[in-house]
Amino acid sequence: MIRVNGLSCAYGKKTALHSIDLHVRHGEMVGVLGPNGSGKTTLLRAISGTLPLVSGEIRLDGHVLSGLKPKEKAVIMACVPQKLEAVFDMQVTSLVRMGRYPYVSFFKGYTPEDDQAVHWALEKTNTLHLRDRYANQLSGGELQRVLIARALAQKTPLLLLDEAASGLDAGAQAEIYDLLKALNREGMTIVSAIHNLNLAALYCDRLIFIQDGTLVLDGPTTQVFTQTHLSRIYHAHITVFPHPTTQTPQCVLVPGSAAPAPTDG
Ligand code: ADP
Ligand code: MG
Repeated sequence: MIRVNGLSCAYGKKTALHSIDLHVRHGEMVGVLGPNGSGKTTLLRAISGTLPLVSGEIRLDGHVLSGLKPKEKAVIMACVPQKLEAVFDMQVTSLVRMGRYPYVSFFKGYTPEDDQAVHWALEKTNTLHLRDRYANQLSGGELQRVLIARALAQKTPLLLLDEAASGLDAGAQAEIYDLLKALNREGMTIVSAIHNLNLAALYCDRLIFIQDGTLVLDGPTTQVFTQTHLSRIYHAHITVFPHPTTQTPQCVLVPGSAAPAPTDG
């Protein structure tokens, strides 16, 4: 589904990703983890084609990403960004309908199929009751679900999300990740940057860790979510234990254990 080979990206002279290799298969749900500023958003932006590459190659379903036209990309991959591009002074239905742009022709406008897709996306994300509300009047959790609805209306096999549940309360986080897990079980491939380590371990079967722009760890959650790895990557003593219900690994910070991150100099 996604093949990344030797990917490097930079902002000006500052390299933000160093030679990343990554292969995401159809049907996987992959969590992208790493400390603040490690390069998670940069990786997702590169895969979504919104950031130029310094070197390397990205392929989507076998096609070289840079060779795909915007509409060709948009029928394969939908994105839920970390930050809102603008505060939407827009009705929820119109916002979700934006997800239909790869299918809309200039001459025909929106078709009943577009309306059906929008209705399906609103239902799926439990936002149908919000359809006439304005997006800038929604709670954080409601708005995130509406943004996911916009991505779902695109009807793509691949969904990229950047910290879709950050800043939300536990119930709203569970609602979003339960939804993503259900979509994944229906076959959608999901790659999601997640700030919350325990949420990532609960919901993702595979985790990749980025540290200072380098992919330092990649594997099944049960193998990579360990005390040694987490403590090394996050520069603090982190204890790992099984979740009492699911046995999935979970972690807690040991207070007073933070070590300053090593500097280059
Ligand atoms: P993460 O999402 O893991 O927090 P980012 O991918 O946003 O990290 O950032 C990776 C690095 O690139 C950081 O050092 C950050 O300061 C830098 N960076 C991110 N966006 C920009 C930008 N628009 N201009 C310059 N530097 C940036
Ligand atoms: Mg980020």
